[in-house]
Amino acid sequence: MNPQAAQAQAQGQAGKGRPSDRTVLARRIALLVAVAVLMVVGTKDIRELRAYRESVVVSQALTKQVPLSTYFDGIRDTPMDAPVYVFDSGVPGGSVLLLAGTHPYEPASPTMAYVVMENIAVTKGKVFVIPRASMSAASLGMLGNAYPPFFRVTTPWGRKTYRIGDRETNPLDQWPDPFTFVHYPSTQNLAYQDSRNINRTFPGRPDGNLTERTSFAISEMIRREQIDMTIDIHEASLGYPVVSTYVCHQRAEELCMMAAMMLSAEQFPMKTETSPKSLRGLTHREVGDFTNSFAVLMETPEPFIDKFVGPMTEDLMLTGRDEFMQTAADRGLLYADYNSKTGSTLDYRVGRHLSGALEVIKQMGEFYPAKTIAVTWPTYSDVMKHGIGFYLHDPAKAERRRVYWN
Ligand SMILES: [Zn+2]
Repeated sequence: MNPQAAQAQAQGQAGKGRPSDRTVLARRIALLVAVAVLMVVGTKDIRELRAYRESVVVSQALTKQVPLSTYFDGIRDTPMDAPVYVFDSGVPGGSVLLLAGTHPYEPASPTMAYVVMENIAVTKGKVFVIPRASMSAASLGMLGNAYPPFFRVTTPWGRKTYRIGDRETNPLDQWPDPFTFVHYPSTQNLAYQDSRNINRTFPGRPDGNLTERTSFAISEMIRREQIDMTIDIHEASLGYPVVSTYVCHQRAEELCMMAAMMLSAEQFPMKTETSPKSLRGLTHREVGDFTNSFAVLMETPEPFIDKFVGPMTEDLMLTGRDEFMQTAADRGLLYADYNSKTGSTLDYRVGRHLSGALEVIKQMGEFYPAKTIAVTWPTYSDVMKHGIGFYLHDPAKAERRRVYWN
């Protein structure tokens, strides 16, 4: 065979195996459609969580609701512009800010704020509530942890759904992370992900990242409104020493000691600690240093966020019952009493926060009569008796003007 003939034959054979241009195009389109379908189906939960809004039927005591950006324009039209609810008695007295949802994966915090907002009555002083301090962190689950996006509270009229969320600002809203996060203004070096942790970015700065700007907006609000006490509401794992504790700035130390003593004697075990001076960026340090407010932080025992529990399910979130946690308790590894039969229910954890806040507010009035706040909302014993669902109202049946979405 001459060379040209051999080449022609080889080309012919190769051409026989090669698909036509139309087949290649069809395959590519099919692949593209498959990827698009996977993206849509696979991100359904993520999109639902990001879009979901929680309802709150506020009590008659609400005087106004304003966006947090009222106090600092640098977060306007961002996912961190949280609603602020004001319950003003119109009678001079003290003022308090309930700062909830700082870490959304500690859900007794915003739930406590909702129970407060739906039932509060105030006859002296002023109460500010931010139920979702980190709106962005409530819009995703914790990266790398498999747990449900929502939990439901049973009420006399049906079930009410709330988000669980993450600990840090959503990377879709603040990206990229620095190699090391340098806290402002102390210049202390913190872990890179703390640049998105709102309880590490206080007092914040107006030209910082989105999380720092949000902390700054909250600090500005406390300064401008001259808020006497700020209570930052959290939950802790039982393997963490600061569980079931008030952590207080040194100016609030005595109030917290008295409140912890009263609670431990009459209601539930509560410890108190003074904010360490070297731990920067946290509300109990920076709000105390950079505003005139008494800075208080509260922690409950929440098995759901411990590292050694079994499956992280909605049931675990609501009941706190877990056999591995019991094993840890039996071996003396926990910093709070634990019994897997009773667990650490959402009612118990929300109840602790409700009475924990009431007691420390009461102590502020005892120590400083001009800062007295006369306020009521359901207490620990109320929710332990009736459950929190009893205190949550149906947005479909409520007066329109009283229904808000977060
Ligand atoms: Zn926390």
